[in-house]
Amino acid sequence: MTAPEHKAQKLAGPPAAEALLRETAERAAKLAQKPHLSIVRLGEDPASVSYVAGKDARAKETGLSSTVHALPEETTQAELLALIRQLNGDSSVNGILVQLPLPEHIDEQEILLAIDPDKDVDGFHPMNVGRLWTNHPASVPCTPQGVMYLLKHYGIDPAGKRVVIIGRSNIVGRPMAGLLMNAHATVTVAHSRTRDLRAVTREADILIAAIGKAHFVTPDMVKPGAVVIDVGINRLEREGKKPKLLGDVHPDVAQVASAMTPVPGGVGPMTIAQLLGNTVAAAEEQAKR
Ligand code: NDP
Repeated sequence: MTAPEHKAQKLAGPPAAEALLRETAERAAKLAQKPHLSIVRLGEDPASVSYVAGKDARAKETGLSSTVHALPEETTQAELLALIRQLNGDSSVNGILVQLPLPEHIDEQEILLAIDPDKDVDGFHPMNVGRLWTNHPASVPCTPQGVMYLLKHYGIDPAGKRVVIIGRSNIVGRPMAGLLMNAHATVTVAHSRTRDLRAVTREADILIAAIGKAHFVTPDMVKPGAVVIDVGINRLEREGKKPKLLGDVHPDVAQVASAMTPVPGGVGPMTIAQLLGNTVAAAEEQAKR
């Protein structure tokens, strides 16, 4: 008789995201005014249109109010800055999100710098980046903050553990490292210049993949019993069918890991839930003043 195949516990995103949304709705209901999120998007890029529609709908379902400012592709830097200044000065707006990527002619960094750090619900403003890295309360990018919530939801405490993150982007890898360091993990950040990546990833008690390459992490890269968090979303286009979403982690890793997030249905649902959490947190802070 052969031994039963090992299979990692599935760390499903939806139950964790629902729990976060419930908490967020309860906190929103306690405020004198509905927390308000203003979302700005430029142009008609289908992915951006769909992400913004999802954020707007989820905000409303969760008891927040939201406004979408859909501007034409040709909007100038000055016009966009003027809108952001107007939203900064509007006390009924608690959170501002500018959907990225922006068209080529827009200086993204200048736009992100113009957002009032207290309303920066994406956590991209250097003031919030600095607060995160000095372990002060900050608005933190939604995906890595959502991963922290998911770990907590499943009772996985990173304190004292070896964590390896593959990816060093400002949106995922770097803030993930800051959050995990603040949570007392021993953190290594790997990237495309890392030598002998496999030796590095095999050290990890918790391995986080945020690379953007389908099925990049294979079972030989994973220490038996590790927890594996797959942030990757790679779209495999198929003729006549909807694109298939693939993670950065090969499904066979489930034979080696003790627990693993699926794609889709893992980290993905956490991002919007956390965005609304960040918006309510911003509204709570603003209400104290
Ligand atoms: P980026 O492209 O900005 O960063 C990718 C990182 O992976 C870089 O640091 C890069 O290294 C590293 N990398 C690329 N190739 C290799 C390699 N061969 N070996 C080691 N490291 C490598 O991507 P993002 O961080 O924005 O996104 C990562 C993934 O997460 C994507 O699939 C994206 O779609 C997904 N994502 C999912 C979200 C969600 O809601 N679940 C939200 C945001 C992103 P280097 O810096 O050296 O170039």
